[in-house]
Amino acid sequence: MLSTMQDVPLLISRILTHGARIHGSSRVTTWTGEGAPQRRTFAEIGGRTAQLAHALREDLGVEGDDRVATLMWNNAEHVEAYFAIPSMGAVLHTLNLRLPAEQLVWIVNHAADRVVIANGSLLPLLAPLLPHLPTVEHVVVSGPGDRTLLADAHARVHEYEDLIAGKPTDYDWPELDERTAASMCYTSGTTGDPKGVVYSHRSIYLHSMQVNMAQSMGLTDQDTSLIVVPQFHVNAWGLPHATFMTGVNMLMPDRFLQPGPLAEMIESEKPTHAAAVPTIWQGLLAELTVKPRDVTSLTQVTIGGSACPPALMSAFDDLGMRVCHAWGMTETSPLGTIARPPAQVVGLPEEFAYRLTQGRFPAGVEARLSGPGGERLPWDGESAGELEVRGPWIAGAYYNGPGGEVLRPADKFSEDGWLKTGDVGTISPDGFLTLTDRAKDVIKSGGEWISSVELENALMAHPAVAEAAVVAVPDDRWGERPLATVVLKEGADADFETLRAFLAEEGKIAKWQLPERWTIVEAVPKTSVGKFDKKVLRRRYAEGALDITQL
Ligand code: AMP
Repeated sequence: MLSTMQDVPLLISRILTHGARIHGSSRVTTWTGEGAPQRRTFAEIGGRTAQLAHALREDLGVEGDDRVATLMWNNAEHVEAYFAIPSMGAVLHTLNLRLPAEQLVWIVNHAADRVVIANGSLLPLLAPLLPHLPTVEHVVVSGPGDRTLLADAHARVHEYEDLIAGKPTDYDWPELDERTAASMCYTSGTTGDPKGVVYSHRSIYLHSMQVNMAQSMGLTDQDTSLIVVPQFHVNAWGLPHATFMTGVNMLMPDRFLQPGPLAEMIESEKPTHAAAVPTIWQGLLAELTVKPRDVTSLTQVTIGGSACPPALMSAFDDLGMRVCHAWGMTETSPLGTIARPPAQVVGLPEEFAYRLTQGRFPAGVEARLSGPGGERLPWDGESAGELEVRGPWIAGAYYNGPGGEVLRPADKFSEDGWLKTGDVGTISPDGFLTLTDRAKDVIKSGGEWISSVELENALMAHPAVAEAAVVAVPDDRWGERPLATVVLKEGADADFETLRAFLAEEGKIAKWQLPERWTIVEAVPKTSVGKFDKKVLRRRYAEGALDITQL
């Protein structure tokens, strides 16, 4: 029997028109560095989105599932592109501006992007790539920057504002199949070629509703969200779509991502919520220590992308900024888990431990743990295995070029279609995920696993340590042993013996897991999305480029 319900496709255009009409007075505020920030209401964004769609179709000839790329910071124009491109039926392709040039070229060619919308400030990055991007016919430039850099470009160059000026502020958005491609994002892939994840209208719609649930980010039109997580990284964790559903004001930092400007925008624009990876918050914390600011408006901070160090969570708690830890991947849209402690522990000492886990799976995400031989492991909080997930906003394959079959590599997808996350962890009987490592970062010592993350967190709790990364290095006797690389805080001093003793204190770390190899580094190398790049550390060690002390 079929249901008697209406079958209205879940489309990005519906999120847009809802936000522009029902929450027309909510605002997107973009930081400009100097002078007043740029302010635009959702109603204005709605009108400009329609104008952009007209310009893309009528002036640039974008049609069908053409890919339109963005090389942009978080700002109002990027929000307009987010809505215009998928709503008209084309595919938004967000480019990660921190990727090495060769990877960007590979990705644009693989997606066969026809148009690139770029911020003027990023033209020094785009201009030298353009000769290698034969599919790109048009470049649309928005915001300040030197246009002469594009003087020799094969592509036609347009000004964003000129292009949309005078176009109608409404658009007859097509009634698309909700399963069609809306946007794509390539994984930052530390091994092999980058892999394209293609989100559908339906997956984005459902994911946005989940982001908005009280158990997830739970924001309303009384909130302002400082969206630091880049729009080029997993759709800024779905926030631009989710906020248009509920009227949450967006505060966009544009290119001003340094701790100083971030502290300044928090003090002056008074966001109530913010989202970013831990490294951004470590920087802000250091800044606030040196130069205290009024950050009391900010009461909710969503942290994900890599594990939130306990020391960071407590420091933020002390400042009145309550951290909510979440886990996800490009392949999971990204919301996979979120750490809201269960009601019965709220206010009790156990609450903190729950908040430090990666959290619980929201409705819509199913999970299982797979052991080394592929066997299912119990949710007992002890058995560690690879996490596999499935659900309506989880990738089931990767993009394989125009007209090509999709890719389903066996190391990424199980035979029955679940995503193999490559993350290793445990799940407690009450459903809380604790990640202990990336499958490739776990240290295998004498047949036992040592969690690099656990050692890092314990080290980063020492007052002299700014950052610490632990990697596996080959060892004749044990197979692998941990190498601790430590960044000391400015002016701080601590010798390795002291740090090792600190780890051993109160049984924080089992004795056999304590690292015997130590080194000080100036900074932990980071990937294009701000995560510890352990591959680089392992390579430096192998090349003998690190000054190792053996205890
Ligand atoms: P990406 O696709 O670049 O967003 O990277 C996804 C990966 O980041 C995951 O597979 C995890 O390894 C890592 N990750 C994301 N969030 C967390 C978290 N809260 N704790 C630990 N690792 C995380």
